Amino acid sequence: MLAITQLCKAYGDTPVFAGVDLRVAPGEFVAIVGESGVGKSTLLNCIAGLDSVSAGSVRIDGLEVTTLAEPDAALLRRRRLGFVFQAFHVLPHLSVFHNVALPLLLLKRPDAARVREVLAAVGLDALADRLPRQLSGGQLQRVAIARALVHRPALILADEPTGNLDPGTAERVMDLFATQVRHEGAACVLATHSRAAAARADRTLALSADGIGPA
Ligand code: ADP
Ligand code: MG
Repeated sequence: MLAITQLCKAYGDTPVFAGVDLRVAPGEFVAIVGESGVGKSTLLNCIAGLDSVSAGSVRIDGLEVTTLAEPDAALLRRRRLGFVFQAFHVLPHLSVFHNVALPLLLLKRPDAARVREVLAAVGLDALADRLPRQLSGGQLQRVAIARALVHRPALILADEPTGNLDPGTAERVMDLFATQVRHEGAACVLATHSRAAAARADRTLALSADGIGPA
């Protein structure tokens, strides 16, 4: 599903990480831990083709992401990826319902029942008609999670997805990711510094400046 080989990333002369090797199979749940600033978000962005790499390879379904040009990169993300952004990136003028429905609309597969189902799964069914500015941080985070999962992506990339949630809600959200992995065969890469969240993964890896390895 995902194969990363000798991936290196620097911003100008400042290296972030080098020599990152990682393979994730369908049905596998991997947590990436590491202190703040180590490059977890950068790594997820590089996997999704949202940031350039300095060297190395990222393949999704055998397709080299690092050299994929738009609009092919956007199409790959739309069809195959579910990305939970650390900063949510919900659309401010769309309701909760329409934010979550958007990935299905872009795929020309509108499905209101599915939207309701994921909203219920993250506990937002009562807030479907609200605008993002009428939500708390934890509620916005759950909109971002529902939007990332609504189209049943083959690869889920989640950046600190429980950072704004209380322990009970975080647990339910982690159940949702686990269901997607165990029952739908998705691959999931989760960046987190929550021990409870990392404990739900099959493997926990620590990212550092010179690579990635068992935590
Ligand atoms: P993490 O998610 O592990 O906290 P990040 O991936 O956000 O870490 O950041 C890794 C490092 O790269 C940090 O030192 C950060 O300051 C730096 N960085 C992130 N984005 C940029 C950017 N666009 N330009 C320059 N430096 C950046
Ligand atoms: Mg981060």
